[in-house]
Amino acid sequence: MTTSDRAVTKRPNSDTVGRGTSSPSSWGFGDGQAIPWEYAPAPEARDVVKLQSRYGLFIGGKEVAPRSGQWFTTLDPATEEPLAEVARAGLEDVEHAVGTARRAYRRSWGELPGRERAKYLFRIARILQERSREFAVLETLDTGKPIKESRDVDIPLVAAHFWYYAGWADKLDYAFPGRTARPLGVAAQIIPWNFPLLMLAWKIAPALAAGNTVVLKPASSTPLSALLFADVCRQADLPPGVVNIVTGPGEIGLALVKHPDVDKVAFTGSTAVGKEIGRAIAGSDKALTLELGGKAANIVFDDAPLDQAIEGIVNGIFFNQGEVCCAGSRLLVQESIAEPLIEKLKDRLSTLRVGDPLDKNTDVGAINNAAQLAKIEELIEAGVAEGAELYQPACELPSRGYFVRPTLFTNVAQSHRIAQEEIFGPVLSMLTFRTPDEAIEKANNTPYGLSAGVWTEKGSRILKMVKELRAGVVWANTFNRFDPTSPFGGYKESGFGREGGLQGLLAYVRLEDR
Ligand code: NDP
Repeated sequence: MTTSDRAVTKRPNSDTVGRGTSSPSSWGFGDGQAIPWEYAPAPEARDVVKLQSRYGLFIGGKEVAPRSGQWFTTLDPATEEPLAEVARAGLEDVEHAVGTARRAYRRSWGELPGRERAKYLFRIARILQERSREFAVLETLDTGKPIKESRDVDIPLVAAHFWYYAGWADKLDYAFPGRTARPLGVAAQIIPWNFPLLMLAWKIAPALAAGNTVVLKPASSTPLSALLFADVCRQADLPPGVVNIVTGPGEIGLALVKHPDVDKVAFTGSTAVGKEIGRAIAGSDKALTLELGGKAANIVFDDAPLDQAIEGIVNGIFFNQGEVCCAGSRLLVQESIAEPLIEKLKDRLSTLRVGDPLDKNTDVGAINNAAQLAKIEELIEAGVAEGAELYQPACELPSRGYFVRPTLFTNVAQSHRIAQEEIFGPVLSMLTFRTPDEAIEKANNTPYGLSAGVWTEKGSRILKMVKELRAGVVWANTFNRFDPTSPFGGYKESGFGREGGLQGLLAYVRLEDR
C-alpha cells in the first residue's frame, strides 16, 4: 500500500486538504485502512436541462433585461466552468420589482379568495413534480450537491411544501380559530446557496398561501433553479407580479429589505448578514424572520444503537457536504463508547465516495464556491494548529472543482475554533462527555441554537434532553429529517421565527379579532 492509499491522520498538507490528490476510491476495512474498490461511472444525463446563455430578471410575469445593464456569471462548482450569465440588478430594478409586487398585491392576489390561491399553488406543486428531474439536475449543476440528494431530498421536499401550503390557503379560519388572518402585503425574501430551491419553497409557498406577493433574491452563486421556477410560475398562469425574482449582489438584497414598500422580510443565511438586516430595518414596522447559522450537537449516549448512530452521524455532517445550517457538526460521545465509535466512524468515512455531483453513486459532491472552500480549509488548518487530531479517509479528489475530503477531528477541546465556529463544510469535531448534565452543558455552550440530535434507547432520557437543549429542533435517533408540517427555526444567534407548519404560515399573516 502506498502513502496515498492510506487514510490520513494528524497534520494536513497540500495532499490532505484541498485538491489534486490521486488515491483510489475505497471500501473501509478497520481504522480507515482502505482497500481499492472501483465503481463504474453512473452519470445522470445533463441534457435534461436546457440552459439559456443569459437569464434576465423575472418581474411582472416576464423575463426582463436588467435596467442596470449589468450581468454576472454563475459557475459549476464541480468543474469551475461557467454555466450562464445572469442579470445583476441595480437599484432601479429593485424599485421596479417592488412596485410590480405591490400592484399585484392590490389588484389581483391580495383580493383573490383562498380557494383560488390554492388552485395556483396546487398547480405549481404538480408542475414541480412533473419537472423534478430537470430541477434536480439543474440544482446539482449550480450547487455541487450530489444528484441523489437533489433528486431524493431537495426536489421532493420542494413539491411537498407547495402541496402542504396549498392545502392551507382556503382554511386560514381553521388555522387561526376565532381570528381573521390578513396578508401582510409585499414580502422581500433572501435565500442562500446551500438549498436554493428548497429555501425558495420555504419562503414562497406560505407567503402566497396567505395572500402576499413576493420579491425573492437568490444567492449569486446559485440563481438558476429560482429562474427555472419563474418558468413554472408562467406555466401555472400565476397572475403577473405575484412572484418576482431579482438576481444580484448582497447590496441589492439590502436595498430590497430596506425598501419602504416592503412589509415583510424573510432571510436565510449567515448570522453576520442577518444582524445587518436586523439593524437596517430596526424602527420600521416591517415583520422579520431570520434563519441563521448553527453549530449543532449530535449527542450519542452509551446505550445508543451504535450502527444506527453512525449512519445518523454521517448523515448529520456529510449530507450536502455539511453545508447545512442545522448540520450535526459537533459530535458529543459518551466517554465509555468513544473508542469503538471512532473505529466504526473511520470505517464508514472511508466508504464515502467524493466526486462528480452528477454521478448517482456520489455521496459528497463539490463545495459550492471558492470562498467557502477557502473558509473550510482555513478552519481545518486551525483545528490541527490548535492540537486536535485530524482524520481524512484516502479518496481521490477531482483535479478541478471545489472539493474537500470528509474530515473528522478527535481530541477536540471546547475552546477550539472548530468546536465553536460554523464551518459549513464536511468537517466533524468530536468531543466526549461522562454524564447527561455534562452533555447538556457542552451542547448548549454555543452562541447558536438551531438544532441538536440525541441517540439513546431511553425515551425518558430523550424527553429530558429535549427539554434542556436550547435548540429549535431536536432529532431523536435520527438527524436532518425535514417535513413541511413541522416548524423549523432557532434560538439565540440562529435567528427567530419559524418556517414550516402552521407557525410558518403565522409569519406571513396579521391576525385580527373578529
Ligand atoms: P450570506 O449570508 O452572505 O448570503 C446569504 C444571502 O444573503 C445571499 O443571497 C446573499 O447574496 C445575501 N446577502 C449578502 N449580503 C447581504 C446584505 N448585506 N444584505 C442582504 N442580503 C445579503 O452567506 P455567504 O454566502 O457569504 O456564506 C457565508 C457563511 O454564512 C457560510 O460560510 C456559512 O457559515 C453561513 N451560511 C449559512 C446559511 C444558513 O442556511 N444558515 C446559508 C449560507 C451561508 P449574495 O449571494 O449575492 O452575496
